[in-house]
Amino acid sequence: MKYPEVMNYVGGRFVAGDHPYLDVFNPSDGTVISKVPLSAREDVDAAVESAKAAFPGWSALPIKERVQVFYRYRSLLERDIEELTALVTEENGKVYGEAKAEILKSMELTEFACSLPQIAAGEVLEVSRGVECRIERFPLGVVASITPFNFPNMVPNWTIPNAIALGNCMILKPSELVPLSSIRIAELLREAGLPEGVFQVVNGGKDVVEAICDHSGIEAISFVGSTKVAKLVYRRGTANLKRVLALGGAKNHLIVMPDADLEMTSSNVVASMSGCAGQRCMAASVMVAVSETDHIIQRMIDYAKKVVPGENLGPVISAEAKERIERYITEAEKAGASVLVDGRKTVVKGKENGYYVGPTIIDFVTPDMKIAQEEVFGPVLVIIRAKDLEKAMEIENASPYGNAASVFTESGGVARYVMENASAGMVGVNVGVPVPREPFSFGGWNESRFGVGDINGKGSIEFWTRSKKMTTKWNQEHGTN
Ligand code: NAD
Repeated sequence: MKYPEVMNYVGGRFVAGDHPYLDVFNPSDGTVISKVPLSAREDVDAAVESAKAAFPGWSALPIKERVQVFYRYRSLLERDIEELTALVTEENGKVYGEAKAEILKSMELTEFACSLPQIAAGEVLEVSRGVECRIERFPLGVVASITPFNFPNMVPNWTIPNAIALGNCMILKPSELVPLSSIRIAELLREAGLPEGVFQVVNGGKDVVEAICDHSGIEAISFVGSTKVAKLVYRRGTANLKRVLALGGAKNHLIVMPDADLEMTSSNVVASMSGCAGQRCMAASVMVAVSETDHIIQRMIDYAKKVVPGENLGPVISAEAKERIERYITEAEKAGASVLVDGRKTVVKGKENGYYVGPTIIDFVTPDMKIAQEEVFGPVLVIIRAKDLEKAMEIENASPYGNAASVFTESGGVARYVMENASAGMVGVNVGVPVPREPFSFGGWNESRFGVGDINGKGSIEFWTRSKKMTTKWNQEHGTN
Protein backbone atom coordinates (compact mmCIF):
# COMPACT_ATOMS: atom_id res chain seq x y z
CA MET A 1 0.00 0.00 0.00
CA LYS A 2 1.51 3.30 -1.06
CA TYR A 3 -0.36 5.34 1.57
CA PRO A 4 -1.10 4.47 5.20
CA GLU A 5 -4.66 3.84 6.31
CA VAL A 6 -6.77 6.97 6.12
CA MET A 7 -7.72 8.55 9.45
CA ASN A 8 -10.52 10.84 10.49
CA TYR A 9 -9.63 14.42 11.36
CA VAL A 10 -11.38 15.56 14.53
CA GLY A 11 -10.50 18.36 16.94
CA GLY A 12 -7.38 19.24 14.97
CA ARG A 13 -5.94 15.71 15.25
CA PHE A 14 -5.86 12.69 12.97
CA VAL A 15 -7.57 9.86 14.82
CA ALA A 16 -7.75 6.16 14.10
CA GLY A 17 -10.73 4.21 15.40
CA ASP A 18 -11.80 0.62 15.60
CA HIS A 19 -13.56 0.48 12.22
CA PRO A 20 -14.03 -1.85 9.32
CA TYR A 21 -11.98 -0.65 6.34
CA LEU A 22 -12.53 -0.50 2.57
CA ASP A 23 -9.73 -0.70 0.01
CA VAL A 24 -8.94 2.45 -1.96
CA PHE A 25 -7.93 1.66 -5.55
CA ASN A 26 -5.87 3.39 -8.18
CA PRO A 27 -8.32 3.09 -11.10
CA SER A 28 -5.60 3.23 -13.73
CA ASP A 29 -4.03 -0.08 -12.66
CA GLY A 30 -6.40 -1.60 -10.10
CA THR A 31 -3.83 -1.60 -7.28
CA VAL A 32 -4.82 -0.95 -3.66
CA ILE A 33 -3.20 2.32 -2.55
CA SER A 34 -4.79 2.79 0.87
CA LYS A 35 -7.67 1.81 3.14
CA VAL A 36 -10.51 4.01 4.31
CA PRO A 37 -12.40 3.59 7.59
CA LEU A 38 -16.16 3.11 7.58
CA SER A 39 -16.86 5.35 10.54
CA ALA A 40 -19.91 5.12 12.75
CA ARG A 41 -22.48 7.41 14.35
CA GLU A 42 -20.19 7.97 17.39
CA ASP A 43 -17.52 9.44 15.11
CA VAL A 44 -20.03 11.98 13.79
CA ASP A 45 -21.02 12.75 17.42
CA ALA A 46 -17.38 13.41 18.33
CA ALA A 47 -16.87 15.66 15.31
CA VAL A 48 -20.03 17.65 16.11
CA GLU A 49 -18.94 18.10 19.73
CA SER A 50 -15.56 19.42 18.69
CA ALA A 51 -17.08 21.70 16.00
CA LYS A 52 -19.60 23.03 18.52
CA ALA A 53 -16.79 23.85 20.93
CA ALA A 54 -14.88 25.70 18.21
CA PHE A 55 -17.87 27.67 16.90
CA PRO A 56 -18.17 30.51 19.46
CA GLY A 57 -14.52 31.53 19.06
CA TRP A 58 -14.42 31.17 15.28
CA SER A 59 -17.72 32.92 14.58
CA ALA A 60 -16.80 35.81 16.91
CA LEU A 61 -13.78 36.74 14.77
CA PRO A 62 -14.44 39.50 12.24
CA ILE A 63 -14.74 38.09 8.74
CA LYS A 64 -11.66 40.05 7.66
CA GLU A 65 -9.66 38.01 10.16
CA ARG A 66 -11.26 34.70 9.24
CA VAL A 67 -10.37 35.06 5.56
CA GLN A 68 -6.68 35.48 6.40
CA VAL A 69 -6.59 31.69 6.79
CA PHE A 70 -7.84 31.34 3.23
CA TYR A 71 -5.24 33.71 1.78
CA ARG A 72 -2.64 31.36 3.28
CA TYR A 73 -4.55 28.22 2.25
CA ARG A 74 -4.66 29.42 -1.36
CA SER A 75 -0.86 29.92 -1.33
CA LEU A 76 -0.42 26.42 0.07
CA LEU A 77 -2.58 24.94 -2.71
CA GLU A 78 -0.31 26.73 -5.17
CA ARG A 79 2.85 25.60 -3.39
CA ASP A 80 1.74 21.95 -3.43
CA ILE A 81 -0.06 21.96 -6.77
CA GLU A 82 2.06 19.21 -8.32
CA GLU A 83 1.68 16.89 -5.33
CA LEU A 84 -2.09 17.55 -5.06
CA THR A 85 -2.45 16.96 -8.81
CA ALA A 86 -0.63 13.64 -8.55
CA LEU A 87 -2.86 12.59 -5.65
CA VAL A 88 -6.05 13.30 -7.65
CA THR A 89 -4.61 11.32 -10.57
CA GLU A 90 -3.78 8.41 -8.30
CA GLU A 91 -7.07 8.06 -6.49
CA ASN A 92 -9.45 9.21 -9.24
CA GLY A 93 -7.58 8.31 -12.43
CA LYS A 94 -7.77 11.71 -14.16
CA VAL A 95 -4.94 12.56 -16.52
CA TYR A 96 -2.42 15.20 -15.42
CA GLY A 97 -3.97 18.27 -17.11
CA GLU A 98 -7.46 17.46 -15.82
CA ALA A 99 -6.23 16.86 -12.28
CA LYS A 100 -4.20 20.08 -12.29
CA ALA A 101 -7.22 22.04 -13.57
CA GLU A 102 -9.07 20.79 -10.52
CA ILE A 103 -6.49 22.28 -8.12
CA LEU A 104 -6.44 25.55 -10.08
CA LYS A 105 -10.20 25.70 -9.68
CA SER A 106 -9.84 25.08 -5.93
CA MET A 107 -7.52 28.09 -5.84
CA GLU A 108 -10.11 30.19 -7.67
CA LEU A 109 -12.82 29.07 -5.23
CA THR A 110 -10.58 30.10 -2.34
CA GLU A 111 -9.91 33.49 -3.93
CA PHE A 112 -13.66 34.05 -3.99
CA ALA A 113 -13.86 33.25 -0.27
CA CYS A 114 -11.13 35.84 0.34
CA SER A 115 -13.38 38.45 -1.31
CA LEU A 116 -16.36 37.68 0.95
CA PRO A 117 -15.72 40.65 3.31
CA GLN A 118 -16.40 42.90 0.30
CA ILE A 119 -19.38 40.93 -0.99
CA ALA A 120 -21.22 39.86 2.16
CA ALA A 121 -21.03 43.23 3.90
CA GLY A 122 -24.75 43.51 4.69
CA GLU A 123 -27.12 46.40 3.97
CA VAL A 124 -28.18 49.59 5.72
CA LEU A 125 -30.73 52.29 4.90
CA GLU A 126 -32.27 55.21 6.76
CA VAL A 127 -35.95 54.30 6.29
CA SER A 128 -37.35 57.40 8.04
CA ARG A 129 -35.68 60.30 9.79
CA GLY A 130 -33.27 58.90 12.37
CA VAL A 131 -34.53 55.35 11.85
CA GLU A 132 -32.22 52.83 10.25
CA CYS A 133 -32.90 49.32 9.03
CA ARG A 134 -29.91 47.07 8.56
CA ILE A 135 -29.36 43.47 7.60
CA GLU A 136 -26.43 41.58 9.03
CA ARG A 137 -25.42 38.01 8.18
CA PHE A 138 -24.68 35.42 10.83
CA PRO A 139 -23.23 31.92 10.43
CA LEU A 140 -25.47 28.91 11.03
CA GLY A 141 -23.22 26.92 13.38
CA VAL A 142 -22.04 23.39 12.62
CA VAL A 143 -22.61 22.43 8.98
CA ALA A 144 -21.75 19.36 6.88
CA SER A 145 -20.57 18.77 3.33
CA ILE A 146 -20.97 15.37 1.63
CA THR A 147 -19.04 14.94 -1.62
CA PRO A 148 -18.77 12.54 -4.61
CA PHE A 149 -15.81 10.75 -6.20
CA ASN A 150 -15.43 12.69 -9.43
CA PHE A 151 -13.66 15.82 -8.15
CA PRO A 152 -11.78 14.76 -5.00
CA ASN A 153 -10.20 18.18 -4.48
CA MET A 154 -12.50 20.70 -6.20
CA VAL A 155 -15.93 19.66 -4.93
CA PRO A 156 -14.90 19.77 -1.24
CA ASN A 157 -13.54 23.24 -2.03
CA TRP A 158 -16.90 24.29 -3.47
CA THR A 159 -18.09 24.45 0.13
CA ILE A 160 -15.16 24.58 2.59
CA PRO A 161 -13.76 28.11 1.98
CA ASN A 162 -17.11 29.91 1.76
CA ALA A 163 -18.88 28.11 4.60
CA ILE A 164 -15.93 28.50 6.96
CA ALA A 165 -15.03 32.08 5.97
CA LEU A 166 -18.65 32.99 6.66
CA GLY A 167 -18.14 31.76 10.24
CA ASN A 168 -19.41 28.17 10.26
CA CYS A 169 -17.61 25.05 11.49
CA MET A 170 -17.70 22.22 8.97
CA ILE A 171 -17.71 18.43 8.92
CA LEU A 172 -16.68 16.95 5.57
CA LYS A 173 -17.71 13.43 4.53
CA PRO A 174 -15.73 12.73 1.35
CA SER A 175 -16.45 9.92 -1.06
CA GLU A 176 -15.04 6.67 0.30
CA LEU A 177 -13.64 6.01 -3.20
CA VAL A 178 -11.30 9.05 -3.05
CA PRO A 179 -10.55 9.94 0.59
CA LEU A 180 -6.88 10.93 0.22
CA SER A 181 -7.30 14.46 -1.20
CA SER A 182 -9.54 15.45 1.73
CA ILE A 183 -6.86 14.46 4.19
CA ARG A 184 -4.37 16.74 2.41
CA ILE A 185 -6.98 19.52 2.48
CA ALA A 186 -7.25 19.08 6.27
CA GLU A 187 -3.45 19.22 6.60
CA LEU A 188 -3.21 22.37 4.51
CA LEU A 189 -6.01 24.11 6.43
CA ARG A 190 -4.20 23.28 9.66
CA GLU A 191 -0.94 24.62 8.26
CA ALA A 192 -2.79 27.77 7.14
CA GLY A 193 -3.70 28.37 10.78
CA LEU A 194 -7.34 27.25 10.94
CA PRO A 195 -8.11 26.70 14.64
CA GLU A 196 -8.77 23.13 15.71
CA GLY A 197 -12.37 21.97 15.49
CA VAL A 198 -13.36 24.43 12.76
CA PHE A 199 -12.90 21.77 10.07
CA GLN A 200 -13.26 18.00 10.53
CA VAL A 201 -13.25 14.98 8.24
CA VAL A 202 -15.32 11.89 9.01
CA ASN A 203 -14.75 9.11 6.49
CA GLY A 204 -17.21 6.41 5.58
CA GLY A 205 -20.34 5.72 3.57
CA LYS A 206 -24.08 5.49 4.06
CA ASP A 207 -23.96 5.21 7.89
CA VAL A 208 -22.02 8.44 8.26
CA VAL A 209 -24.33 10.25 5.83
CA GLU A 210 -27.39 9.07 7.74
CA ALA A 211 -25.85 10.09 11.06
CA ILE A 212 -25.19 13.57 9.62
CA CYS A 213 -28.81 13.85 8.41
CA ASP A 214 -30.11 12.83 11.84
CA HIS A 215 -27.77 14.79 14.11
CA SER A 216 -29.55 17.60 15.95
CA GLY A 217 -26.28 19.54 16.32
CA ILE A 218 -25.87 20.00 12.55
CA GLU A 219 -27.71 23.00 11.09
CA ALA A 220 -27.17 22.60 7.35
CA ILE A 221 -26.01 20.00 4.83
CA SER A 222 -24.68 20.42 1.35
CA PHE A 223 -24.59 17.27 -0.75
CA VAL A 224 -23.14 16.60 -4.20
CA GLY A 225 -23.64 13.20 -5.83
CA SER A 226 -26.18 11.09 -7.68
CA THR A 227 -29.85 12.06 -7.85
CA LYS A 228 -30.87 8.89 -6.00
CA VAL A 229 -28.77 9.78 -2.96
CA ALA A 230 -29.46 13.53 -3.28
CA LYS A 231 -33.16 12.77 -2.81
CA LEU A 232 -32.47 10.55 0.22
CA VAL A 233 -30.29 13.20 1.86
CA TYR A 234 -32.70 16.03 1.04
CA ARG A 235 -35.70 14.13 2.43
CA ARG A 236 -33.94 12.91 5.57
CA GLY A 237 -32.13 16.18 6.30
CA THR A 238 -35.18 18.40 5.84
CA ALA A 239 -37.36 15.95 7.82
CA ASN A 240 -34.92 16.66 10.65
CA LEU A 241 -35.51 20.39 10.06
CA LYS A 242 -32.13 21.16 8.53
CA ARG A 243 -31.31 23.41 5.64
CA VAL A 244 -30.27 21.13 2.76
CA LEU A 245 -28.87 21.84 -0.68
CA ALA A 246 -28.45 18.59 -2.60
CA LEU A 247 -26.98 18.58 -6.09
CA GLY A 248 -27.75 15.45 -8.08
CA GLY A 249 -26.88 13.75 -11.36
CA ALA A 250 -27.25 15.00 -14.91
CA LYS A 251 -28.04 14.19 -18.51
CA ASN A 252 -26.78 17.20 -20.44
CA HIS A 253 -28.03 17.91 -23.96
CA LEU A 254 -25.96 19.69 -26.60
CA ILE A 255 -28.05 20.93 -29.51
CA VAL A 256 -26.05 21.09 -32.73
CA MET A 257 -27.47 23.18 -35.57
CA PRO A 258 -26.48 22.66 -39.22
CA ASP A 259 -24.81 26.11 -39.37
CA ALA A 260 -22.50 25.34 -36.43
CA ASP A 261 -18.77 25.87 -37.01
CA LEU A 262 -17.42 22.50 -38.11
CA GLU A 263 -14.06 22.30 -36.31
CA MET A 264 -15.02 24.14 -33.13
CA THR A 265 -18.22 22.16 -32.68
CA SER A 266 -16.88 18.71 -33.42
CA SER A 267 -13.77 19.16 -31.25
CA ASN A 268 -15.72 20.76 -28.37
CA VAL A 269 -18.45 18.13 -28.32
CA VAL A 270 -15.90 15.30 -28.21
CA ALA A 271 -13.88 17.07 -25.49
CA SER A 272 -17.04 17.60 -23.44
CA MET A 273 -18.15 13.98 -23.57
CA SER A 274 -14.72 12.40 -23.06
CA GLY A 275 -12.96 14.83 -20.67
CA CYS A 276 -12.45 13.34 -17.18
CA ALA A 277 -13.62 10.07 -18.79
CA GLY A 278 -17.12 11.50 -19.02
CA GLN A 279 -17.34 11.57 -15.23
CA ARG A 280 -18.37 15.22 -14.99
CA CYS A 281 -21.86 16.31 -14.07
CA MET A 282 -21.45 18.92 -16.84
CA ALA A 283 -20.31 16.46 -19.53
CA ALA A 284 -22.13 16.21 -22.87
CA SER A 285 -24.30 13.15 -22.72
CA VAL A 286 -26.84 13.62 -25.51
CA MET A 287 -26.16 15.44 -28.76
CA VAL A 288 -29.36 16.51 -30.44
CA ALA A 289 -28.39 16.76 -34.11
CA VAL A 290 -30.78 19.09 -35.89
CA SER A 291 -31.45 18.47 -39.58
CA GLU A 292 -28.33 18.13 -41.84
CA THR A 293 -25.42 17.62 -39.46
CA ASP A 294 -23.76 14.50 -40.89
CA HIS A 295 -20.60 16.45 -41.77
CA ILE A 296 -20.18 17.41 -38.09
CA ILE A 297 -20.77 13.86 -36.88
CA GLN A 298 -18.17 12.54 -39.35
CA ARG A 299 -15.61 15.05 -38.06
CA MET A 300 -16.43 14.10 -34.46
CA ILE A 301 -15.38 10.55 -35.28
CA ASP A 302 -11.96 11.89 -36.35
CA TYR A 303 -11.61 13.82 -33.10
CA ALA A 304 -12.72 10.81 -31.03
CA LYS A 305 -9.87 8.80 -32.57
CA LYS A 306 -7.44 11.33 -31.09
CA VAL A 307 -8.69 10.51 -27.60
CA VAL A 308 -6.36 7.71 -26.53
CA PRO A 309 -7.03 5.73 -23.33
CA GLY A 310 -4.00 5.76 -21.05
CA GLU A 311 -2.62 8.89 -22.76
CA ASN A 312 -5.15 11.71 -22.84
CA LEU A 313 -8.08 9.72 -21.44
CA GLY A 314 -8.09 8.34 -17.90
CA PRO A 315 -9.96 5.31 -16.58
CA VAL A 316 -13.41 5.34 -15.02
CA ILE A 317 -13.56 5.04 -11.25
CA SER A 318 -14.10 1.30 -10.71
CA ALA A 319 -14.50 -2.12 -12.27
CA GLU A 320 -18.26 -1.88 -11.56
CA ALA A 321 -18.48 1.49 -13.33
CA LYS A 322 -16.71 0.06 -16.40
CA GLU A 323 -19.08 -2.90 -16.48
CA ARG A 324 -22.15 -0.65 -16.06
CA ILE A 325 -21.08 1.72 -18.85
CA GLU A 326 -20.34 -1.12 -21.26
CA ARG A 327 -23.74 -2.67 -20.46
CA TYR A 328 -25.48 0.60 -21.45
CA ILE A 329 -23.65 0.55 -24.81
CA THR A 330 -24.54 -3.09 -25.50
CA GLU A 331 -28.19 -2.54 -24.60
CA ALA A 332 -28.40 0.50 -26.89
CA GLU A 333 -26.91 -1.51 -29.74
CA LYS A 334 -29.43 -4.30 -29.13
CA ALA A 335 -32.23 -1.71 -29.12
CA GLY A 336 -31.23 -0.67 -32.67
CA ALA A 337 -28.76 2.20 -32.18
CA SER A 338 -25.59 2.35 -34.24
CA VAL A 339 -22.23 2.41 -32.42
CA LEU A 340 -19.99 4.69 -34.53
CA VAL A 341 -17.03 4.70 -32.13
CA ASP A 342 -16.84 1.80 -29.68
CA GLY A 343 -14.93 2.09 -26.41
CA ARG A 344 -15.82 -1.34 -25.07
CA LYS A 345 -13.10 -3.91 -24.39
CA THR A 346 -10.44 -1.21 -24.13
CA VAL A 347 -7.16 -2.49 -22.72
CA VAL A 348 -4.18 -0.21 -22.09
CA LYS A 349 -0.80 -1.84 -22.54
CA GLY A 350 1.04 -2.04 -19.23
CA LYS A 351 -2.18 -1.14 -17.36
CA GLU A 352 -4.21 -4.23 -18.16
CA ASN A 353 -6.00 -4.07 -14.81
CA GLY A 354 -7.08 -0.45 -15.23
CA TYR A 355 -10.76 0.42 -15.64
CA TYR A 356 -10.59 1.97 -19.10
CA VAL A 357 -13.50 2.66 -21.43
CA GLY A 358 -12.63 4.29 -24.75
CA PRO A 359 -14.59 7.22 -26.20
CA THR A 360 -17.90 6.01 -27.55
CA ILE A 361 -20.32 7.69 -29.96
CA ILE A 362 -23.70 6.10 -30.60
CA ASP A 363 -25.95 7.36 -33.41
CA PHE A 364 -29.65 6.89 -34.15
CA VAL A 365 -30.61 6.70 -30.50
CA THR A 366 -34.29 7.40 -29.87
CA PRO A 367 -35.63 9.31 -26.85
CA ASP A 368 -37.38 6.21 -25.48
CA MET A 369 -34.14 4.20 -25.14
CA LYS A 370 -32.68 3.70 -21.68
CA ILE A 371 -29.34 5.20 -22.72
CA ALA A 372 -31.14 8.40 -23.79
CA GLN A 373 -32.81 8.79 -20.43
CA GLU A 374 -30.43 7.62 -17.70
CA GLU A 375 -27.12 9.05 -16.56
CA VAL A 376 -24.29 6.84 -17.92
CA PHE A 377 -21.37 8.76 -16.35
CA GLY A 378 -18.68 7.56 -18.74
CA PRO A 379 -17.09 8.74 -22.02
CA VAL A 380 -20.23 7.98 -24.01
CA LEU A 381 -22.19 10.33 -26.28
CA VAL A 382 -25.52 9.43 -27.79
CA ILE A 383 -26.86 11.21 -30.86
CA ILE A 384 -30.59 11.78 -31.24
CA ARG A 385 -31.69 13.14 -34.60
CA ALA A 386 -34.27 15.98 -34.66
CA LYS A 387 -35.91 17.48 -37.73
CA ASP A 388 -35.98 21.03 -36.39
CA LEU A 389 -35.16 23.21 -33.37
CA GLU A 390 -38.63 22.87 -31.84
CA LYS A 391 -38.31 19.07 -31.81
CA ALA A 392 -34.79 19.40 -30.34
CA MET A 393 -36.08 21.57 -27.49
CA GLU A 394 -38.89 19.11 -26.85
CA ILE A 395 -36.28 16.35 -26.40
CA GLU A 396 -34.15 18.50 -24.08
CA ASN A 397 -37.14 19.66 -22.03
CA ALA A 398 -38.36 16.08 -21.51
CA SER A 399 -35.27 15.11 -19.49
CA PRO A 400 -35.98 14.88 -15.76
CA TYR A 401 -32.50 16.32 -15.09
CA GLY A 402 -31.54 19.96 -15.62
CA ASN A 403 -27.89 20.61 -14.95
CA ALA A 404 -26.57 21.95 -18.26
CA ALA A 405 -27.57 22.47 -21.89
CA SER A 406 -25.69 24.02 -24.78
CA VAL A 407 -26.30 25.02 -28.36
CA PHE A 408 -23.79 25.16 -31.19
CA THR A 409 -24.82 27.64 -33.86
CA GLU A 410 -23.78 30.81 -35.67
CA SER A 411 -27.24 32.35 -35.22
CA GLY A 412 -27.81 34.77 -32.35
CA GLY A 413 -31.57 34.25 -32.55
CA VAL A 414 -31.29 30.48 -32.23
CA ALA A 415 -28.79 30.85 -29.37
CA ARG A 416 -31.13 33.17 -27.46
CA TYR A 417 -34.09 30.86 -28.03
CA VAL A 418 -32.21 27.88 -26.58
CA MET A 419 -30.86 29.90 -23.63
CA GLU A 420 -34.41 30.99 -22.77
CA ASN A 421 -36.15 27.67 -23.30
CA ALA A 422 -33.71 24.99 -22.14
CA SER A 423 -34.85 23.40 -18.91
CA ALA A 424 -31.44 23.61 -17.23
CA GLY A 425 -29.76 25.76 -14.60
CA MET A 426 -26.58 26.33 -16.64
CA VAL A 427 -26.73 26.97 -20.37
CA GLY A 428 -24.04 27.60 -22.96
CA VAL A 429 -23.63 28.87 -26.50
CA ASN A 430 -20.76 27.27 -28.44
CA VAL A 431 -19.41 26.00 -25.09
CA GLY A 432 -19.19 22.26 -24.46
CA VAL A 433 -18.94 22.47 -20.67
CA PRO A 434 -20.81 25.63 -19.59
CA VAL A 435 -19.50 25.81 -16.00
CA PRO A 436 -19.93 29.35 -14.64
CA ARG A 437 -16.76 30.69 -13.02
CA GLU A 438 -16.45 32.75 -9.84
CA PRO A 439 -18.17 34.97 -8.80
CA PHE A 440 -21.04 33.25 -10.65
CA SER A 441 -22.47 30.28 -8.87
CA PHE A 442 -22.99 26.66 -9.87
CA GLY A 443 -26.32 24.87 -9.65
CA GLY A 444 -28.78 23.01 -11.86
CA TRP A 445 -32.54 22.69 -12.06
CA ASN A 446 -35.10 19.88 -11.77
CA GLU A 447 -33.68 16.54 -10.56
CA SER A 448 -30.15 17.93 -10.68
CA ARG A 449 -30.70 20.10 -7.61
CA PHE A 450 -32.91 19.91 -4.53
CA GLY A 451 -33.17 22.89 -2.22
CA VAL A 452 -32.68 26.61 -2.66
CA GLY A 453 -29.46 28.43 -3.55
CA ASP A 454 -26.29 27.47 -5.36
CA ILE A 455 -23.29 25.58 -4.08
CA ASN A 456 -20.58 28.23 -4.56
CA GLY A 457 -20.08 31.83 -5.64
CA LYS A 458 -22.49 34.57 -4.64
CA GLY A 459 -25.42 32.14 -4.63
CA SER A 460 -23.94 30.24 -1.68
CA ILE A 461 -23.84 33.19 0.74
CA GLU A 462 -27.55 32.92 1.47
CA PHE A 463 -27.24 29.18 2.07
CA TRP A 464 -24.36 29.36 4.56
CA THR A 465 -25.73 32.27 6.61
CA ARG A 466 -28.91 33.58 8.20
CA SER A 467 -29.77 37.22 8.17
CA LYS A 468 -30.86 39.39 11.07
CA LYS A 469 -33.00 42.44 10.34
CA MET A 470 -32.26 45.28 12.78
CA THR A 471 -34.22 48.50 13.18
CA THR A 472 -32.78 51.33 15.30
CA LYS A 473 -33.86 54.84 16.19
CA TRP A 474 -31.24 57.29 17.41
CA ASN A 475 -32.80 60.71 17.30
CA GLN A 476 -33.72 63.18 20.01
CA GLU A 477 -37.22 64.01 18.82
CA HIS A 478 -40.23 62.88 20.84
CA GLY A 479 -43.44 61.63 19.28
CA THR A 480 -41.91 60.26 16.11
CA ASN A 481 -42.14 56.65 15.13
P1 NAD B 1 -23.01 8.97 -5.00
O1 NAD B 1 -24.37 9.55 -4.91
O2 NAD B 1 -22.89 7.49 -5.15
O3 NAD B 1 -22.16 9.34 -3.69
C1 NAD B 1 -22.10 10.67 -3.20
C2 NAD B 1 -21.92 10.63 -1.69
O4 NAD B 1 -23.04 9.97 -1.09
C3 NAD B 1 -20.68 9.86 -1.27
O5 NAD B 1 -20.04 10.57 -0.24
C4 NAD B 1 -21.23 8.52 -0.79
O6 NAD B 1 -20.47 7.95 0.24
C5 NAD B 1 -22.62 8.86 -0.30
N1 NAD B 1 -23.60 7.76 -0.50
C6 NAD B 1 -23.61 6.85 -1.51
N2 NAD B 1 -24.69 6.04 -1.39
C7 NAD B 1 -25.38 6.46 -0.30
C8 NAD B 1 -26.59 6.03 0.34
N3 NAD B 1 -27.30 5.01 -0.13
N4 NAD B 1 -27.00 6.70 1.43
C9 NAD B 1 -26.30 7.75 1.92
N5 NAD B 1 -25.14 8.18 1.36
C10 NAD B 1 -24.68 7.56 0.26
O7 NAD B 1 -22.25 9.74 -6.18
P2 NAD B 1 -20.83 9.40 -6.81
O8 NAD B 1 -20.95 8.14 -7.60
O9 NAD B 1 -19.77 9.52 -5.79
O10 NAD B 1 -20.66 10.63 -7.81
C11 NAD B 1 -21.17 10.67 -9.11
C12 NAD B 1 -22.51 11.36 -9.15
O11 NAD B 1 -22.39 12.68 -8.65
C13 NAD B 1 -23.05 11.53 -10.57
O12 NAD B 1 -24.42 11.27 -10.54
C14 NAD B 1 -22.77 12.99 -10.90
O13 NAD B 1 -23.63 13.53 -11.87
C15 NAD B 1 -23.00 13.60 -9.56
N6 NAD B 1 -22.37 14.91 -9.45
C16 NAD B 1 -23.18 15.99 -9.49
C17 NAD B 1 -22.63 17.26 -9.44
C18 NAD B 1 -23.52 18.47 -9.51
O14 NAD B 1 -23.03 19.56 -9.30
N7 NAD B 1 -24.81 18.35 -9.78
C19 NAD B 1 -21.25 17.42 -9.32
C20 NAD B 1 -20.45 16.29 -9.25
C21 NAD B 1 -21.03 15.03 -9.32
